[in-house]
Amino acid sequence: MTPFDYTRAGDVAEAVRLGATPATAFLGGGTNLVDLMRETVARPDRLVDVTGLSGTIAESASGGLMIGASVKNTALAEHRVVRTRYPVLARAILAGASAQIRNMATVGGNVLQRTRCTYFYDTDGSRCNKRSPGSGCDAIDGFSRGHAILGASAACVATHPSDMCVALAALDAVVHVEGASGKRTVPFGDLHRLPGDHPEIDTVLEPGELITAIELPALPDSARSSYRKVRDRSSYAFALVSVAAVLDIHDGVITDIRLALGGVAHRPWRARTAEALLRGGPATAQAFRDAAIAELADARPLRDNGFKVPLATRTIVAVLGDLAGDQA
Ligand SMILES: Cc1cc2nc3c(=O)[nH]c(=O)nc-3n(C[C@H](O)[C@H](O)[C@H](O)COP(=O)(O)OP(=O)(O)OC[C@H]3O[C@@H](n4cnc5c(N)ncnc54)[C@H](O)[C@@H]3O)c2cc1C
Ligand code: SF4
Repeated sequence: MTPFDYTRAGDVAEAVRLGATPATAFLGGGTNLVDLMRETVARPDRLVDVTGLSGTIAESASGGLMIGASVKNTALAEHRVVRTRYPVLARAILAGASAQIRNMATVGGNVLQRTRCTYFYDTDGSRCNKRSPGSGCDAIDGFSRGHAILGASAACVATHPSDMCVALAALDAVVHVEGASGKRTVPFGDLHRLPGDHPEIDTVLEPGELITAIELPALPDSARSSYRKVRDRSSYAFALVSVAAVLDIHDGVITDIRLALGGVAHRPWRARTAEALLRGGPATAQAFRDAAIAELADARPLRDNGFKVPLATRTIVAVLGDLAGDQA
């Protein structure tokens, strides 16, 4: 690990001022950043600890929820309103990492955690465009079991690792940020980038922009939501495929559907094609299957991950079938 300075920010203004210095990184729970520093993948000159900021969860004026960026993952998953009104989010968080890590990890840090592509962490010889732009990508012709089947590029085939982010994508969350140019909000679906020619840039955030909060819009009382993660082991493993869904059905007709996939793309993948096919139509198993197949039609598997196409298709059908219950 290379030497660095450490400062604990007392408030958002101080964090933003310190964060504007080049080669500065914000420190949440450190469960990803410190690993990256230990491997010398990340080499910030200065860490600004933001764990003392914005750690509250409050109902918003519009009936949704405002979640401070420094709220711990465990606290969010255990929050009464999250468990009852947003079960998709509670389930996604509890499907990730271990209890110890969830106790340390913050909402802001979870959203900005970096890919788990093993070549990205291997500084001893692997080529990786995300770590060293222009160096190449050893995953494309290498071991690609965990890699992307949708939205990848010739520069990078990594997947986004977060479970929580898949739920936030399905919930149409809004990200509140503050930087040297002031405050702004970013729709969650616009936050993470596809790799394109610049896989080293994960999000649309400007350097030094601080995530201050995540806002969840209100859901109709009749909407049901869930998250299912398929992985190699029953715990402590990243998703091969995951599905977050919000479904609202009236008289057998789907009035609202939000569907997002994890483990398949460089960002949480909002399944807009499937949603468009299903919205306004019948909540039947056949309709779920047709929509899932259409969503995966553009999939481009690599050598080792062709299994993700049928796996994602079946997982979508299973999650929607569970949510629809006896209406499917
Ligand atoms: C063994 C292991 C298993 C795991 N398994 C899973 C899993 O199955 N599913 C899953 O989803 N995750 C998993 N994780 C990842 C874990 O969830 C993340 O490491 C964690 O959520 C990151 O949160 P943090 O607060 O520790 O972030 P940090 O490590 O502190 O920071 C991560 C990034 O976010 C930036 N950052 C932090 N806070 C802010 C802010 N407020 N504004 C702007 N930037 C900020 C940092 O600068 C850094 O770039 C696993 C991690 C480990 C170590
Ligand atoms: S897939 Fe992306 S992160 Fe992995 S080696 Fe290739 S460029 Fe690096």
